[in-house]
Amino acid sequence: MSKKTLKFYIALWGAKAGSIILKLLGRNATYFPGKFALSICPNFIEMIGKSKTIIGVTGTNGKTTVCNMIEDTLRENNYKFIDNKYGSNIDSGIATTLISGVNLTGKAKKDIAVLEIDERSVSKVFPYLTPTYLICTNLFRDSLMRNAHTEFIAGVLTKYIPKQTKLIVNADDLICSNIAPDNEKIYFSIDKLETDTEKCNNIVRDIIVCPKCNTKLEYEYYRYHHIGKAHCPNCDFGTPKADYIANKIDIDKKKMTILQKDETQEEYDIPNTNIINMYNMLAVIVLLKQIGLTQEQINNGLKKLKIVETRYSEEEYEGIKIVTHLAKGMNPIACSRAFEYAKTTDGNKIAIVLVDDLHEDAKGTENIAWQYDTDFEFLNDDTIKQVIIAGPRYLDTIVRIRMAGVPEEKIAYEKNEVEATAKANLEGIDKVVILHDLYSIEETERIKNKLKEMIKEKETK
Ligand SMILES: [Zn+2]
Repeated sequence: MSKKTLKFYIALWGAKAGSIILKLLGRNATYFPGKFALSICPNFIEMIGKSKTIIGVTGTNGKTTVCNMIEDTLRENNYKFIDNKYGSNIDSGIATTLISGVNLTGKAKKDIAVLEIDERSVSKVFPYLTPTYLICTNLFRDSLMRNAHTEFIAGVLTKYIPKQTKLIVNADDLICSNIAPDNEKIYFSIDKLETDTEKCNNIVRDIIVCPKCNTKLEYEYYRYHHIGKAHCPNCDFGTPKADYIANKIDIDKKKMTILQKDETQEEYDIPNTNIINMYNMLAVIVLLKQIGLTQEQINNGLKKLKIVETRYSEEEYEGIKIVTHLAKGMNPIACSRAFEYAKTTDGNKIAIVLVDDLHEDAKGTENIAWQYDTDFEFLNDDTIKQVIIAGPRYLDTIVRIRMAGVPEEKIAYEKNEVEATAKANLEGIDKVVILHDLYSIEETERIKNKLKEMIKEKETK
């Protein structure tokens, strides 16, 4: 930590005063105090007092979920910490969180900090802050406009991750497991599953050739996209040996057994058996073990976890299940995972697709190339009886759905989400899956209400 300057104190006190005023006005101080402090003192993050243990979480998908699970488990076990749960995950948000965690002399009040860090912001954060541990959940292509491509993001991470930081990375992700090659690393993995395949079922695979020698990689199995187990036939590049391997998953009992590097096994309770969430939970368990939590303490936390409602919810209404599943627009991987869920979940289904990247909160939109990286083909399935498209992107999405081979008679659409929902044919349907964007929470509620109205009407007929 460098010596605190007068500028630093002016920035700190100004930011603290600003936070108080914002609170009095009933506004959320998510990034403004940090932005203010950084504008006065550019190396503010370097000077401010920090917790002894800094846990960083980055990666394309799952950052927020992983942070929430770490925080909930720490809280359950009476640990005191600061976090940017309600703040932004870029430099100004992180500065805001650090400001809230220090006293007026700039000294840290709590021993642990849990920080979600946007993978593109590491260049503005890591020169000034060294995480003790950094989880990288995975690296996939994301919004092309914001994130370019995975090699770019992996390169940024490798360039800026401090050498002293211990990394916790997904061994089954060949892009993520290879960042920062000189750092100490702990790898986690999920052992081969019955659902793994010999061929890749997705359009997008972000690593195809060996980054060392450009030879085509050989996959032992695919899980989804580039996740799986692979090696280069020409050099030593390949899936690293994992330190923690989830080698037994009991979906009915919701238990996961983890084989540790000392060959002992431990059983954990998992609230959700969706593969993405299992990876997230595995990352959380490995991290919590590093900072000294026992198996019992971790299980106490995990047992009580709930997946946030805005990401997934289900309810039964007069015999029909209504499921909401986040399908993050501009993020082809997150959308593909949601569409695959719609395909594989049981029953006869209607899928309502509402990708809303034109929403004003989406902060400007990009071209629709991402829709062509997304596996809309999953929606072309016998168990999906109807695909309903709504939202500002509905015309673009219709083209993509047709290209995926969904028969015309199964497709219904309308820009307005309630009018589109009115076209649902609920005859013989067990489940309606609403695949919605981050920005269409209110629209999703209106779709749910319309569905309930229609189900009720159908009952009384
Ligand atoms: Zn090679």
